[in-house]
Amino acid sequence: FRKNKSSEKELLQQLLQGNKTALGRSITLVESNQQSHQKKAEFLVEGALPHAHKSIRIGITGVPGVGKSTFIESLGSFLIKQGKKVAVLAVDPTSTVSRGSILGDKTRMENLVTEENAFIRPSPSGDSLGGVARKTRESIVLCEAAGFDVLLIETVGVGQSETTVHSMTDFFLLLKLAGAGDELQGIKRGIIEMADAIVINKADGENEKAAREARLEFKRALHLYPPKESTWAPKVLLSSALYNTGIHEVWEMISEYQNLAKENGYFTHHRQEQNKFWLLQTINEHLKSNFYNDPEIKTTLEEQLKAIEENETTAFAAAKVLLNLG
Ligand code: GDP
Repeated sequence: FRKNKSSEKELLQQLLQGNKTALGRSITLVESNQQSHQKKAEFLVEGALPHAHKSIRIGITGVPGVGKSTFIESLGSFLIKQGKKVAVLAVDPTSTVSRGSILGDKTRMENLVTEENAFIRPSPSGDSLGGVARKTRESIVLCEAAGFDVLLIETVGVGQSETTVHSMTDFFLLLKLAGAGDELQGIKRGIIEMADAIVINKADGENEKAAREARLEFKRALHLYPPKESTWAPKVLLSSALYNTGIHEVWEMISEYQNLAKENGYFTHHRQEQNKFWLLQTINEHLKSNFYNDPEIKTTLEEQLKAIEENETTAFAAAKVLLNLG
C-alpha cells in the first residue's frame, strides 16, 4: 500500500513538472471506472488543484465538417509559436455508444500532435454524458497543473454536449459555415445564446463573399439576444483554418475578452458559479449511480416495472417503494 502511495506522489511530482507521459497516465486514472484507480485519481486531482488556475478554457463547437480539428490545429500552432502550452480535450457523448465517436475516429491535428508544447486527448467514454463531463472536468485540472495555459475543449452538437462544455469553459466559440441554413447546420437557438463568438470558417476562395455576408447577418441576429452577464458583446469573425487566416484575430478577441472579464470580476465569479454547479452535478451523478447499482434496488426495480406492466401498481407508488430502499 505504501509503495502505491509513493508511486502516486511520484506521478504527481512529474505531472507538476509538466511531464506529458505523467499527465497522460494521470488522465487514464481519472477516466478509469475501477475503484482502485479512482482513489489514485482523487489524490492526483486534489494535489493538482492548487496549481490549476492560470489558464483560459475555451470551448469550441460546430457541426461535423465545419473544420473544428483544422481550426484547432491552426489556432493551437499559432499559440505555440506565441510561447503557449496548449492542451486539447474533447467531449463526445457518441464515444460512449459502441459505434465509435464522431470526433475521435479520424487522423486529426497531425502537426499539433508532434509539438512538444501540445497535449491532445480524445474524448473519454463513459456511461453517460455526466460521466464523460466529470472526467473531462478533472482532466482540465490535471492539464492546467502540468502547465498547459490554453485549454481547447472541443465538442459536437449531440444532445446536451454543448451545454456541458459551456459549463466548464471561460469562453465559448461557435464555428459556422456561410451559406448553410440554420436547419442544415443543426444549430439550436440556445447555442447561439451561449456563444461568446461566432467564427465563420472556410472564408476562403469562392466562399469568401458569402462568408462576409453571413457575418453581417449574424451580427444583426446577435443584437436580438439579451446582453450577457459578463457585459461582453459577442463578436462575429471570419477564418480560414485551412489557410491560417483570421486566426490571429480570434486570439486577439479572446485576449480582449479575458481582459474585460478579469477586470470586471466576471472571470472569477463565473468559475466559482461553475464550481458550485459541478459540486451539485457530481452529487447527482454519485447518488444516481449508487442507487441504480445497488443489487436490492436492481431486483426491486425489475419487480416494480413488471408490476406496472400488469397494472398492479402506479408509477408513483412504485417509485416510493424504490426510494424508500435507497
Ligand atoms: P470537423 O469535422 O469539424 O473537425 O472538420 P475538419 O477539421 O475535419 O474539416 C472538414 C473538412 O473541411 C476537411 O476536408 C478540411 O480540410 C476542410 N476545411 C477545414 N477548414 C477549412 C477552411 O478554412 N477552408 C477550407 N476551404 N476547407 C477547410
